[in-house]
Amino acid sequence: MAIIFRNGKIITGTGEIFRKGLVALAGPIIDYVGPEKRLRTSKNDQVIDLMGNTILPGIIDCHVHLCMDGSPDSMVSLLKESIPILTLKTAHHVRLTLEAGLTTVRDMGGRDYVDISIRDGIRSGLLPGPRMVCSGKMICMTGGYGWPYSREADGPEEVRKAAREQIKAGADVIKLMATGGILTKGVDPGAAQLSLEELRAGVEEARKADRRTATHAQGKEGIKNSLRAGIDSIEHGISLDDEAIALMLESKAFLVPTLSPPERIVGEGVKAGIPSSLIERARSAMKRHLDSVVKAYKMKIPIAMGTDAGTPLNRHGENLKELELLVKMGMSPMEAIVSATKTASEVLGLEGKIGTLEKGKLADLIVVDGDPLEDITLLQKKGRIKIIMKEGQFYKSHLHA
Ligand SMILES: [Zn+2]
Repeated sequence: MAIIFRNGKIITGTGEIFRKGLVALAGPIIDYVGPEKRLRTSKNDQVIDLMGNTILPGIIDCHVHLCMDGSPDSMVSLLKESIPILTLKTAHHVRLTLEAGLTTVRDMGGRDYVDISIRDGIRSGLLPGPRMVCSGKMICMTGGYGWPYSREADGPEEVRKAAREQIKAGADVIKLMATGGILTKGVDPGAAQLSLEELRAGVEEARKADRRTATHAQGKEGIKNSLRAGIDSIEHGISLDDEAIALMLESKAFLVPTLSPPERIVGEGVKAGIPSSLIERARSAMKRHLDSVVKAYKMKIPIAMGTDAGTPLNRHGENLKELELLVKMGMSPMEAIVSATKTASEVLGLEGKIGTLEKGKLADLIVVDGDPLEDITLLQKKGRIKIIMKEGQFYKSHLHA
């Protein structure tokens, strides 16, 4: 039995549009994408009339923390929960994420490998959720950013060992902490942390095992250390100067800006009772961050969507607010969609399988009521996503409801 979507507007994720098109599947694989044509169908085929609604690739979020709950003090709740409760909460978060239209996410730091267990549970069909690419524990210096739930490591040899431990535990990607950040008390957000030599050791070890690397990097020195170490993606990139941009272009690193966390903390922090010192740290980072992302965008650095979902007030299932923020930053709605589909798949090294609607790729797709190219916020509105499919399997199908 084949599934055929017809009479839809197709956004393929490559930048291409078919105003009235057809997507046909063969099992979990896309078999045809293009203009409407006469298809020979058998009576077992399921033909779905999209009635002019828009079909696009399943959305990919390159930076989430599924073990964190997005509460005002999500770092504290991450640490205080028992492992069974944390696992149940994470299972709840993956469901919310999938139901928001995200068919793939990259988890950038959990606790005690709960992220990896949940990934494996989704893979084996135990629970519904997006495809997950996991980092396991983040690797930071002693007392560095995120230390209470990270693997602390000092010196290249220990970072090497820490990377090996993550790979042994099943990590798909290695996350290295190159600078401080705003959420760990007593840590200077802009200061460099893991050194160039330490980052190099982590990257080298990841490469040997064919794993990608990502770095939490806010300040200039840590960003440059990461790029000189050969990192694959800069997460946040709050202070990018011309030299950092030149290094990014040279090394072909991606930027995953995560505009959501400061926006949430500054916008909703007072009402949620977040300490004013944290709100101030977020506010002071926001302007610099935006300037850096605009600069990167103008210099054509590949930008992939990531939300940092799970951090304070940055709730799972509200990920697609980030697309609106990318458009406010200067992207066209089409560019924002490409950043959350094609470019995001490239960050994960999964561009051969997902990220676009093209023949031969896995059928990860969503159908939205209306045209997100006219209004990008449609994608974050309740009930507007009518169909969610991952690998040819429906997780939501409410088109005619
Ligand atoms: Zn993060």
